[in-house]
Amino acid sequence: MRPNESLVLVLSDEFEPMHHRLAAAAADGWNVEVGTRIRVGEPVAGDRIVTVALSDPDCRFDNGDPYVGYTSDLREGAIFVCPDEATLTASTFLVLMQHELGHVLGLEHIEDEPSAVMYAPEDPDTAVLSITGFTSADRAEFARVNPGFVEATPCGINRTLAEGDGAASFVRGDPNHRVVILRDQALELLALDPESARPAGAATPLGLETERAFDLDATTTTGGDFAMTWNDRQLVGVARVRPTGEVISNDEVEVDDDDFVIDAVVDEDGRTIVAVARFGALETHLFDAAEGVETSTKVEGIGVLAALPNGPVFVGLRRTAPDAGVLFAAYLGEDLAPTARVDLAEVPFPEDDSRVLLPIAGPLGDGLFATSIVNDATILVRADADLTPIAAQRPSESFGPAPVVVERDGELAIIATAYDEDFVSSEVMVAAFDATTLERLRPWRRIGAPDAFPSFGDGLIEDGDGLVALFTEGLGAVRSRCLAWP
Ligand SMILES: [Zn+2]
Repeated sequence: MRPNESLVLVLSDEFEPMHHRLAAAAADGWNVEVGTRIRVGEPVAGDRIVTVALSDPDCRFDNGDPYVGYTSDLREGAIFVCPDEATLTASTFLVLMQHELGHVLGLEHIEDEPSAVMYAPEDPDTAVLSITGFTSADRAEFARVNPGFVEATPCGINRTLAEGDGAASFVRGDPNHRVVILRDQALELLALDPESARPAGAATPLGLETERAFDLDATTTTGGDFAMTWNDRQLVGVARVRPTGEVISNDEVEVDDDDFVIDAVVDEDGRTIVAVARFGALETHLFDAAEGVETSTKVEGIGVLAALPNGPVFVGLRRTAPDAGVLFAAYLGEDLAPTARVDLAEVPFPEDDSRVLLPIAGPLGDGLFATSIVNDATILVRADADLTPIAAQRPSESFGPAPVVVERDGELAIIATAYDEDFVSSEVMVAAFDATTLERLRPWRRIGAPDAFPSFGDGLIEDGDGLVALFTEGLGAVRSRCLAWP
């Protein structure tokens, strides 16, 4: 692969429109992972053409070994696909095309990482494609065989910030685009260059350790300090950090490991409020971390906490009839009891509570953005500072969880987990919505590479004309990427 070389995939007439879309998705995967320029379509002068055709129906090499597809020569080759019905299904064809494109780019097999795109089993009789996705081994192999390669564009390429059991959050309100990141079970502070989404300089260790964390959340407070909370299932960690990275305070709250889901916020007075949602009873317990769980306030419904400019808000889902419920919001009083509950939207509440997911909520302008998935249907609500709904929408397509929202010029950018049209796997995507009506304005765009591992959106911030996204992949790697407004 020469720097700046453009590859065009030309599929033979035997393929269906779906295969063209999947080949383009496979090309996208390499483009966002390593910065190649591969596309499907009409070649122009200077393009390198790679043909994709069906092979003969025996699907065996000369030595008798079976295959599902192959590339005739590393780098120089054409791609041949077994014309077998199973091979031509969406999920297999995508995985196969990603793998063969790797060979076209010069990559050899990776034998010790079964989840890698370039993995091939040692035993050729098991010519079955396993579920694979892009891993650091694929990226390292690309770098090994393409020294001196120049990325097509520094923006738009997925960057790895942490491998394995990572978690990350932008420090909300921080102009320096800093990220709190869990790496090797230690929490660190990292600034991102918005032009490339790469780390700008070395990470600052915070001297805080945890097991695998989730719901990592950090927000600037008065004076430039920031407050952060995170969960590692058995405990909630709460820390106060100076802009320099010096930890002012660090408290841990032990919680039950049974059927609890946890959320926590730090309010303006520095008080840490923790929510323990109990699905079986459809109730949530709120408590002040300084006083412990014994003095909890019980709220009917399962819900989460959001730190709004006017104070902490509880957003919950409550059953109002055997088959009906409501998404509601309320500020919390001194005693953590919800005050003046406002119903945001009615929801169809299934008998089976497993069809209900915890709502997700966060600040938007002076008010609140909340979303929930009940019975596979997504509900979006925007409310003002009094929590009065401004708009509610039920998009025709289900998506979520984890929308993180940025507003600009009457539009909202929402990052969420959604399916692509061929339903290969769920990926992190971004789309623009009307800020007033909450109607989707343009199609979803993928952020995570199209592969077999789902990924989840962790954060989205605005920078100049564009956005910087944080997301976690199915194998736990934390990635970042800059992108245009969707
Ligand atoms: Zn191969």
